[in-house]
Amino acid sequence: MTDAALPQPDPTVDPRFCADWSGLTRGTPSAVYRPRNTEEVSALLRDCHARGQAVTIQGGLTGLAGGAVPADGDVVLNLERMSAIEAIDTLEGVMTVQAGATLAAVQAAAAEAGWFFPVDLGARGSCQIGGNAATNAGGERVVRYGTLRDSVLGVEAVLADGTVLSSLTRLVKNSAGLDLRFLFIGSEGMLGVITRLTLKLQPTPAPAVTAFAAATSPTALAGLLRELKRAPGVNLTAFEFMSGAFIDMAAQLSGETCPIAPGQPWYVLIESAEHPRADGGSALQDALEHALGEETILDATLATSLTQAEAIWRLRQSIPEMLTHLKPTVNFDCGLPWVEMDGFIARADAVMRERFPAATHLFFGHMGDNNIHLMTGPHRPEDMLAVETCVYDELRGRQGTISAEHGIGFIKKPFLAHTRSQAEIDTLRTLKTALDPKGILNPGRVID
Ligand SMILES: Cc1cc2nc3c(=O)[nH]c(=O)nc-3n(C[C@H](O)[C@H](O)[C@H](O)COP(=O)(O)OP(=O)(O)OC[C@H]3O[C@@H](n4cnc5c(N)ncnc54)[C@H](O)[C@@H]3O)c2cc1C
Repeated sequence: MTDAALPQPDPTVDPRFCADWSGLTRGTPSAVYRPRNTEEVSALLRDCHARGQAVTIQGGLTGLAGGAVPADGDVVLNLERMSAIEAIDTLEGVMTVQAGATLAAVQAAAAEAGWFFPVDLGARGSCQIGGNAATNAGGERVVRYGTLRDSVLGVEAVLADGTVLSSLTRLVKNSAGLDLRFLFIGSEGMLGVITRLTLKLQPTPAPAVTAFAAATSPTALAGLLRELKRAPGVNLTAFEFMSGAFIDMAAQLSGETCPIAPGQPWYVLIESAEHPRADGGSALQDALEHALGEETILDATLATSLTQAEAIWRLRQSIPEMLTHLKPTVNFDCGLPWVEMDGFIARADAVMRERFPAATHLFFGHMGDNNIHLMTGPHRPEDMLAVETCVYDELRGRQGTISAEHGIGFIKKPFLAHTRSQAEIDTLRTLKTALDPKGILNPGRVID
């Protein structure tokens, strides 16, 4: 690779580069760089490394852990101009893409090529595939296809000193030593800048059947999930559970109507990719009727048109409106074994109601990947730490995680030891020191 010239910084610092969706602000960067290719990223990092200059790496800024928020004097390295879909192998279903392409652009390019990119989340129009990899994003289809990690075949990253480390393999299996791509997936920009990826595409699934059901508790919904996973012909692609309070607010903010009797304790949106039978029925319908008969669930309905299915999804996807309505919010993305969910929710809800009675507390999550979110707000800035402490303390001893998808960033750093052993934290620190000895990349995130 030839030495590239340093990219030019933006003439002024646009305030949009100073915050992400977490609402955290830390200061004003000294400069914003938006390189166009790997060579420019390498030249910029080589220069910052030589000067010991702190760099904040930014994708689409939809993160909720504050990891992409710069401090005073940081150089911002924003990937948004590196958005090319470089190649699609339509024979094998492999895409090569620059890290700044939005998730929506990756999905659209895959569809245009007759394939399907399965990772999906509400922020798809803004979040970038590199940011998704850096946070090992999950989303609404993990129950079927896994997290972003399961869709990445190869990664090209630039290390802190400007070295381009290409593990841009496109092979499904490669046992030639340690698999370096996994160093960067979920690394939150601690170890390098992800610049390009090779992605595994999937065959386009059969048309989806969408349903909505109600139950008394998350444990009851877990029982339903187990049955649907075992049911012949049901091919689950989403299983999104939401509290009654979540649905009430979603209906109010989206203008949509809850498709089954409102006022139930818990709801779930279910999607199954399957061809309808000749009589118009589906395997999902049969399985839900069985669950009703067994009293696993209280009620259920199947969307009979695309319009109805989209209306149900709009309820689930009202989260941006809720974040705005309840701000300043604290957003939790905990993970728990299914057997712990009822106990955790009951305790966390009770503690939060007692300590913060004026705030609204909404539970929801992707049950298939053990994920339970809590969005709570509005909260005064001085109460944020107390809110986090209340909830994370309830996770202790439940074999859970404080982050099932958003990452640690700044916001969750004080609580990392709730989830990770000292030996794990020490190993993270060893890796960080080895790859970024001057600590210029995303300093202060995840670990000190
Ligand atoms: C409405 C909404 C819904 C969401 N739903 C989900 C969901 O279902 N599942 C889920 O997992 N998340 C979800 N999120 C959180 C967020 O969208 C994801 O974490 C997403 O993967 C972040 O991507 P981004 O490009 O916006 O990254 P950013 O917010 O820009 O950055 C996130 C972190 O990654 C680092 N980073 C970004 N790009 C790179 C790169 N190229 N190389 C190295 N480091 C990098 C940053 O430094 C930062 O630490 C949601 C957020 C919103 C606002």
